[in-house]
Amino acid sequence: MRPCLSPTQILSSNVVLSERASQRHMTATAPDHNAIQLDRVSRHYTLGTTAIRAVDDVSLSIAGGEFLALLGSSGSGKSTLLNLMAGLDRPTSGAIHADGRNLAELSSLELARYRRNTIGMVFQSFNLLPRMTLAENVELPLRLAEVDHSERDARVAEALQRVKLDKRTGHRPAELSGGEQQRTAIARALVNRPKILFADEPTGNLDSATGESIMNLLIEIKETLGMTIIMVTHERPLAEKFASRLAVMGDGKLLSDGAIAGVKS
Ligand code: ADP
Repeated sequence: MRPCLSPTQILSSNVVLSERASQRHMTATAPDHNAIQLDRVSRHYTLGTTAIRAVDDVSLSIAGGEFLALLGSSGSGKSTLLNLMAGLDRPTSGAIHADGRNLAELSSLELARYRRNTIGMVFQSFNLLPRMTLAENVELPLRLAEVDHSERDARVAEALQRVKLDKRTGHRPAELSGGEQQRTAIARALVNRPKILFADEPTGNLDSATGESIMNLLIEIKETLGMTIIMVTHERPLAEKFASRLAVMGDGKLLSDGAIAGVKS
């Protein structure tokens, strides 16, 4: 179960949000070297008389530039935790410091601004808008962020070039392979120059060779742009090959967390 808005809702919910919309000051405290810091974070649901501890007292610090893979069996709380870190959901208790703010204390407008300016998201099912061309799909976050028209074309071209799809800008998603659609989704996630990229099973709909090429692309982008990547996956071999750190969840708890020997970052 996903306790969050759909990507289209996420994008459209941002339509109403301009920089002018939120003037409130934000709580600052997170150490600069951490991209995200979770302190005793829980997210509980109540269904009738049953309490579901989707995320249960998780503490975790993710340094800037890390590539963290979040592993665990289905229902272990990975997506709930990702959605909390991405500002799509709020914790029942605990603090989530990201980009100098405690997300648990932000208003809805401030959270939407965090989603728009600080993070990018990539999903298993790509979530491209079928009637739009590649260029229009990638441009959408810039329009929502009210980036000036004169700047948008160059930013879209740069993002599509980074994922090696600059020759396909006028095509529609249905005319692309799965791997190309995911590359387009990555370009869309990057176009607002986020500090943190969240990926929820980004290779789940792809064959293994295409999945590996997507992972290589993510690593290349991370190294070029100096981003932090946090990826949910159930594919341990893929995580071990590409991530710099593995965190394993079970029953809402963090079961283990550690660097992978001999790998990047
Ligand atoms: P994973 O991503 O590891 O498969 P999830 O984070 O989706 O796990 O779910 C963790 C637990 O929380 C599951 O038991 C799931 O049924 C429950 N859960 C998730 N979202 C909701 C919700 N909106 N309402 C009630 N229970 C939920």
